[in-house]
Amino acid sequence: MPSDLKGLSNCVQCGKIYLRITSAFCPDCLKQDRENLENVRDYLRFNRGASMEETVSDTGVDPGRIVAWIQAGHLMLSPQSAIKYPCENKCGSLIQSGKYCRECLHDLSRSLEVQVPEPRNRGHGFLSKDKF
Ligand SMILES: [Zn+2]
Ligand SMILES: [Zn+2]
Repeated sequence: MPSDLKGLSNCVQCGKIYLRITSAFCPDCLKQDRENLENVRDYLRFNRGASMEETVSDTGVDPGRIVAWIQAGHLMLSPQSAIKYPCENKCGSLIQSGKYCRECLHDLSRSLEVQVPEPRNRGHGFLSKDKF
């Protein structure tokens, strides 16, 4: 059945083929990932000032996953946390929540506003040209 094949995907963690529903991970890796998230949460609860290096070496969790959890809002850093990661826009700023720094977020939301109405304006331009 083609519709069944569409749901199959390779797990980004272990490469196993599984039926993809909501996650990029297969059920086994998803379970492991949740456990890792709980471990890191507990660790940071008792080590609020820990750096990324300390967290990674004490929990054994991949730093890329820690950043992904913070970006997705699954993991909240306390204000005194030493964990910082670069803005996705590669502007050089270090941030502690979300994907972009405040400046880039501002610029991105502004450029999105400009892009949305553009195709409609172009269409109107064509019509009025024909009339003239
Ligand atoms: Zn997997
Ligand atoms: Zn930025």
